[in-house]
Amino acid sequence: MIAASPPQHSRGRSLPLAEAAPRAAARTVRISLTDRCDLACLYCRPSRSDGYLEKRLDDNAWHTMARALVQSGVRRVRITGGEPLLHPRVVERVAFIASLGVEDLALTTNATRLLALARPLRVAGLHRITVSVDSLVAERFERITRGGQLAAVLDGVDAAREAGFAEVKSNTVVLRGENDDELADIVAWACARGVVPRFIELMRVGEGARLPAEALVGASEMRQRLAHLLADEAGVPDPDRGPARYVPLRSDPKLRVGFITGSTDTFCASCDRLRVASDGVLRPCLATNDGVPAMSLARSGDVNGIVGAIADAWALKPAGDTWKGCTESSAADVSMRAIGG
Ligand code: SAM
Repeated sequence: MIAASPPQHSRGRSLPLAEAAPRAAARTVRISLTDRCDLACLYCRPSRSDGYLEKRLDDNAWHTMARALVQSGVRRVRITGGEPLLHPRVVERVAFIASLGVEDLALTTNATRLLALARPLRVAGLHRITVSVDSLVAERFERITRGGQLAAVLDGVDAAREAGFAEVKSNTVVLRGENDDELADIVAWACARGVVPRFIELMRVGEGARLPAEALVGASEMRQRLAHLLADEAGVPDPDRGPARYVPLRSDPKLRVGFITGSTDTFCASCDRLRVASDGVLRPCLATNDGVPAMSLARSGDVNGIVGAIADAWALKPAGDTWKGCTESSAADVSMRAIGG
C-alpha cells in the first residue's frame, strides 16, 4: 500500500473499525473534481487563499478511477468539489461517468457558473443537481460566501430548471444570526420554482468547528420555525439518496422540505458512501482524514489495483454503530472543500 502524505490525508489510525460482519461495499461515491472554489463560505474555509492541493487526476487517470469505481460496485455518483464547475472539463467528465451506466448521477454546485453550464451538463447525462443558496438577500449572500453574487446564482438555478433535470434541490446551511430568519422565505422561493429546499445543520467539520457553538441551529428548531408550513409528521429519507429527511408541506403534500442533521443526529450506520478527493485519495468517512492514495495506480491505468485500493479504503470505514460522524473531534481537522463535502 502507498503511504499517504500528511497532513491532508492519513490512514490506519485507531478508529473503531467494524469487527464482525464487514459492511457491504461502497455503492455511493462523491467525487471531487477539484478542490478549487471561487467562494469562501464562512463555515467551509477561512479565506480564498487557504491553499490548494498540488496535484489532481489528469483525464486518463480520472477515467481509470471512474472505471474502477463502477467495477467495484459503485452505482450512484455525485460530482462535487471545491467547486466542480470550475473544472475546465466538467461536462466531458459527467459524460464519461454517464457512459458507464450508473443508476444515479448528480452534482452539487455553488451555481456561479451554472447559467452557461446547466444545459450542457443535462445533455451530457447529468440526472440531478443541487445548488447551494445560503441567503436570498444579496448583501447577506455576499457576506456568507465572502464575495458571491446572488443574482448569478439565481440565474443559474433558473437555467437548471429549464434544462430539464429530474430534480433540482437547494442546500442552505443554517447559521444563527446570519440566515436563520429566512427559512420560510427560502421554502416559498424554492417551492414556487419546483426546487426542493433542504436545510443543513452546521457541522463541526473544518471551519465549521471554528464558529461559535451558538451558530448551530438544530433541525428541531428549524422545524419549529416552519411549523405553520410543514405537515406534523416525522421526516422520511428518500431511499438510496443520502441522509436528508423530507417533510411535506401542509398546503401541498407533493412539495417537500429536507433537513440534514449532521450535528444533532448521525447517520453512520446506513452510510454506504466513499469519497474520492481530487488528488485521487479514496476517503471512507467525512469525519476523518484517513484515506488510501490511488493517484499513481490511476496514472498507470491499473483499474484492478484501484479496485483493491477501494476495498482497502472501505476497510478503514469506522463502525457505523459506534462512530458519531461529524460530531467526532477528528472532524475539526477535515477541510470540506478539499475532501469534496
Ligand atoms: N461548491 C459546491 C457547493 O457550494 O455546493 C460543492 C462543495 S460544498 C463543500 C458541498 C456542501 O457542503 C455545500 O452544500 C455546503 O453548504 C456544505 N458544507 C460545507 N461546509 C459545511 C459545514 N461545516 N457544515 C454543513 N455543511 C457544510
